[in-house]
Order: sequence, then structure tokens, then C-alpha cells
Amino acid sequence: MNVAGNVTGISQEISDVERPDDLAGVQQLVARARRDKTPLYPVSTGLNWGYGSVSPVCAGATLVDLSGMRRILNESEISVTNPVAVIEPGVTQQQLHAFLSKRCPSLTFNVTGSALDTSIIGNSLDRGVGYMGPRREDLFGLEVVTGAGTVLQTGFRRLGEASPLAHCHPYGLGPMLDGLFFQGNFGIVTSACFKLLPRPACQVGISLALSDASLLAQFIDVLAQLKRERVMGSVTHIANKARTRASLAYGVARYLEEKCGVGAAALGREGERVLNIVAPDEWTSLGGISGTKRQVDAAVAEVRARVGGLARVMEIDDAKLSLGYNILHWFRAFPWARANAAAIAAVRPLNGLATGVPTDVAIANLLWRFGRSDLLARELDNTNCGLMFVSPALPMDGRFAADVVQGMTAIARDHQLELYATINIETESSMVAVTNLLFDRSDAKAMERAKRCADALHAFIKARGLEVYRARADMMADVVDPSSDYWKMVRQLKLALDPDNIIAPGRYNIPE
Ligand SMILES: Cc1cc2nc3c(=O)[nH]c(=O)nc-3n(C[C@H](O)[C@H](O)[C@H](O)COP(=O)(O)OP(=O)(O)OC[C@H]3O[C@@H](n4cnc5c(N)ncnc54)[C@H](O)[C@@H]3O)c2cc1C
Repeated sequence: MNVAGNVTGISQEISDVERPDDLAGVQQLVARARRDKTPLYPVSTGLNWGYGSVSPVCAGATLVDLSGMRRILNESEISVTNPVAVIEPGVTQQQLHAFLSKRCPSLTFNVTGSALDTSIIGNSLDRGVGYMGPRREDLFGLEVVTGAGTVLQTGFRRLGEASPLAHCHPYGLGPMLDGLFFQGNFGIVTSACFKLLPRPACQVGISLALSDASLLAQFIDVLAQLKRERVMGSVTHIANKARTRASLAYGVARYLEEKCGVGAAALGREGERVLNIVAPDEWTSLGGISGTKRQVDAAVAEVRARVGGLARVMEIDDAKLSLGYNILHWFRAFPWARANAAAIAAVRPLNGLATGVPTDVAIANLLWRFGRSDLLARELDNTNCGLMFVSPALPMDGRFAADVVQGMTAIARDHQLELYATINIETESSMVAVTNLLFDRSDAKAMERAKRCADALHAFIKARGLEVYRARADMMADVVDPSSDYWKMVRQLKLALDPDNIIAPGRYNIPE
């Protein structure tokens, strides 16, 4: 964790760092903070890149680093018939994946595209999104130390850990309090129940390439309908050309360097040539289908029938990728084969995400781009990489979504920046455009331009009646309107649950 700075280039000073080991340690910190009237800023693993990482909204907080609380509390009880892990905030994607691979390989979980060392709880509490959907749906039964110092268990966890309902029923009885602690600042979550998923018998990735950008709206609508009908159950990511090329660039360069011996001088040119061959399309999408073999075959046939006339359809799985790679690599002396072998090398870890295998590759990509491949993924905040997310939630309407992303792209271009965008079909009724800017934050002018551009993008979104699905720490004042009845009510809840305003002041709330 880097308390001095993060990839957004904007951070607030932290006065101290505390690392509690357990619930009692967190309770003590809250009691002390209430007594001394000093704010706390809790993080799970603190790798909230592009949203502020460990930076609080207001200066002067003590950072509560929960990464040392990394127990899976019900280890011995997890099974195919009991697919729930009761975890502490420091449990990472890598840790849970390793645990399940060893102890219960028939189970998997909803992984995100962020690093191996990112948390499950922190990501879910910030309403992060995995390849199977929003993690909000996966987390329930929270144990929370509220700002008032009380320990609250939500859902049926309130019946006690020994209750047969404690770790399985996601709703409980009566008003659901869980929601208060997602994108909120009412307490510190010390453990929670996390849904695990049965590993499907068969799983394939569906890659689609749309060369005619004018068909984007129609393309989105067809994919949205496939989601509504649950033909394609996972999140379908529809990426613009800048994003596709950026995602592939690192894997392609590594292949060229390590497997083809291309030297540093030629790497840039050769990489560009490969991308021109394998990623010439304006929009490409990646989604997943899983089930029994017969279900998957039928769903793939349905996708081909509906999308085939619009876009190139490719069905991918590990076996196909391995076979394709081996053949193409053999013929790597030929530019087309070399380009496609490089593309497969780059795509393989991304395809793993859809099958529940987390990877550092997206972060390694950024480290490489900013000349710091020597660092670990978790050290991204120690580089010159500048990255800000401005990601509007969208209605499930192809024309509307295409217009918004087109407008955002034009704004970025006006600021001499590229917009990296994916339109993600996340739920059966809504989408999110995950868009980010990349810049060199060691360059003050580039940093200032990026911030101006991010503000302009947010203003544009709001003017269309939209809002981001998740806010950076530095934009809280722009998303929280103290005059609105909604935020006034959120403030009332704050007074009840955290009367001294010690937990993350200003985070998704009126600051004072
Ligand atoms: C290349 C790249 C790819 C990414 N891909 C994804 C992706 O696919 N999906 C995605 O969702 N994000 C993605 N991210 C963003 C981010 O890295 C992840 O969301 C990451 O999981 C968040 O960091 P974390 O898990 O360490 O959470 P934290 O930083 O620990 O938590 C996030 C926030 O939640 C609150 N919080 C955390 N823990 C607690 C607690 N115990 N009690 C109370 N409040 C708490 C805090 O306010 C904290 O700032 C990506 C970022 C990059 C740069």
C-alpha cells in the first residue's frame, strides 16, 4: 500500500496506519477514535486503483489496514453442498482461488479482472464487478463494527454463528441492513459470507468482432437480449479498439520478445503490426457461456444465429487456445501465424477469468506500459501510471449507450486523450460503461489535463441524466448533493450509526 500517492494522482494525507488482527482490535480502534474524535479510513487490501486506492476523501484520517485479517472462518465446512465462504477483509482473490483449488476444486467464484492480491470484501463493498456479475450479489451476512462501536450482524447471521441459517440465507428477516455498508461510511466490516459457485461441466468464451462501428447500437441490443434470456449468463464486455489493443499489447510484446526473439528496438513496430492484424475491428466483445455440454452447444448455436450476421463469432476454450497456439507458433515465421500466436498468448489469461482463475495480467500490462515490469502488481501505485475511472451506469438501450460512449470519446479527444472503454452488460436490466483515462502522472500538465477531462466526462454524464456506478475518492463532492432529500436521509442514517462521524467522513455522504 502506498499512502503517499496513487494512480489517480490525487490523495489526501493519512495521519497514521493501524493494522488490527481481529474483531476486538477493530472495536478498540473505533472506541479510541470516538474518544479522540479522530477519523478512521478502513480498507481491506487498499488496491482500489483508479478510484483513490487508500486515499480517504478528507485529510487526517488513520488508515485502518485490514489486510492482515485474512482467515477463511468456516474452512472445514465449505463443500459443494455448502458453497459459502465466511471470510475476513484481507482474504484475496488469489488466496480463495488457491484454497478452493486444493480443498474443493468443484467450486469456483466470481473473479474480477483486477490483481491476485485484491480483496473480496473491499471490492464487493465498493460494488465492484466480477466476470459473472456485480459482486454485490455475492456478499451477505456481514459482521460490522459501526461507528457507534456496536457489533452488528446482518441477515440471519444475527441468529448466531451456530444457527443453521447464519451462512446460507442471503436475506434474513425484516429490513435488509446489508445495503447500508456497500458504498457507505457507517462502519467497518470485519467478516462476511461470500457465495461460491459450482464449477460448470462445460464453459466456453464467446469472442465477437464488429468491424462496422455504425452497427454498435444494434450489436449491443442483440447481446442485451441474450443476457435477458440468460443465453449468455456472464458479463459481456464490449471493448472499443483502444481498450482491446491496450489489453493485448503486453501479452503480444512478451510473446514477440520471449518466443520470437524480437529485440527492444523492433518491438514497438512489430507489436503494432501484430495488433493491426489481430485487432483491426472497432469493437470486440468477450462473454461466457456455461452449463452442461448440451446446454453450451445449444447456447453457442443461438448466439451464432443471432449475432452471426453482424459480427465475426469465435468460440474459445482452453483446449482450442492450446491447439491453436501450438499450430500457429510452429508457423511463426509467417506474419499472420505469428500475429495470431501472439494474440492467443495475450488472450489466454483473460479467458481464464471467465472460468474463475484470477490473474495479474491487467496490472502487469500497466506496469509494462509505464516501464516498471520490475515491480509486483500490488506496487502499481509506486509507478508513474496515471489512471482515472469515470464509469457511467447505463440503461439497457443500445442506441443510448452508443451515443453516451461516443460523446465521452469526443470529450477525451478534445483533451488530447484516448478513452479506454468497455460497455459491460452486467445485469438483465442495466449496463455500465467502464471507461478510463491513462496518463503519465509524473507530468504535471498531463495530470492536470486528465483531471479536467475526467471532470468534463462526469459533467457530460450528469447532463444526460446519468451517474457513475462507483465514484473516485476525489469526486465525492460531485456525486453527493447536500440539498437532495436522498443524501439528507443518508446523513440521518450516519448520525444514528456513526454519531461522531469517525468512519471515512465524506465517503458517499455529506462530509460534516
Ligand atoms: C487494470 C485494472 C483492472 C481492474 N479490474 C477491475 C474489475 O474487473 N472489477 C472491479 O470491480 N474493479 C476492478 N479494478 C479496480 C480495483 O483495482 C478493484 O476493484 C479492487 O478489487 C479494489 O481494491 P481492494 O480489493 O483492495 O479494495 P479496498 O481498496 O480494500 O476497498 C475499496 C473501498 O471499500 C471500502 N472498504 C474496504 N474494506 C472495507 C471494510 N472492511 N469495511 C468498510 N469499508 C471498507 C473502503 O472505502 C475502500 O476504499 C481494476 C483496476 C485496474 C487498474
